Amino acid sequence: MNFTETLSIRKPASFRLEAVDPDSTPGAKGKEQARTRIEKNAAAIDELQYRLFAENQRSLLIVLQAIDAGGKDGAIRTLSGGMNPQGCTVTSFKKPSEVELDHDFLWRVHQAVPRRGEIGIWNRSHYEDVLVVRVHELVPKSVWSARYEQINRFEANLVAADVHILKFLLHISRDEQKERFQARLDDPEKHWKFSPADVEERKHWDAYMKAFEAAIRKCHTADAPWFVIPANKKWYRDLAITEIVRETMESWKMQYPKPSFDPKSIRIE
Ligand code: AMP
Ligand code: MG
Repeated sequence: MNFTETLSIRKPASFRLEAVDPDSTPGAKGKEQARTRIEKNAAAIDELQYRLFAENQRSLLIVLQAIDAGGKDGAIRTLSGGMNPQGCTVTSFKKPSEVELDHDFLWRVHQAVPRRGEIGIWNRSHYEDVLVVRVHELVPKSVWSARYEQINRFEANLVAADVHILKFLLHISRDEQKERFQARLDDPEKHWKFSPADVEERKHWDAYMKAFEAAIRKCHTADAPWFVIPANKKWYRDLAITEIVRETMESWKMQYPKPSFDPKSIRIE
């Protein structure tokens, strides 16, 4: 079984986050082998990205969600490290600005959808509007609860326009988050990554887990699937994500476009 199959969600409607052990490493053969595989995947994705760009038929949208310290930045670094920056954009979604709040919640993300031939990586996404917004009741329940269906329609529209979507939830344990926060406090070079508000957010752990679970139950679709990545081990996180991205892009069997001229007929003096 490849990673896409191993980590695919079989019964989304009854999906339970508790059933995924953040320490587990399904499909992997250990850290050493993972390192070699990640390097190979990066090289393969680079080649596939070149084809994607040449073909100019479709795009790939990679959505990353996680609890604080869940490893989004690290995953993005590994994933984008081997890519040609000309064909890859990374967008981070922060607290919405006043202008953004004056629009519907999909307005800001729609503008960041990768154009044909490109890969877009989202550090947080429209899912924040059913995660942090739900946990803190930033809008009434009647508003956020209608968003799951709105998200599904939005994503279906993108898929119909040849935007392929992969959604990753990086799943760490509560203990792992504590360790990562502590590491940020202990290392002066990591202080900038920490915010006292993170400790406050941590108190809402269970509500976040419920919100993640709901997002997966309601918004996992065949065309825009969620993958829950056990992410306590950084090497496994990076292995699983790069494997799934490579497998997905390989499955498209992209060909370089045929030239509209006969290369043999052209003589360069
Ligand atoms: P960071 O990724 O650490 O820079 O933090 C970004 C912050 O923006 C997080 O606390 C998110 O929960 C918050 N955020 C992102 N999107 C939204 C949103 N739609 N509504 C409210 N807060 C958001
Ligand atoms: Mg943060």
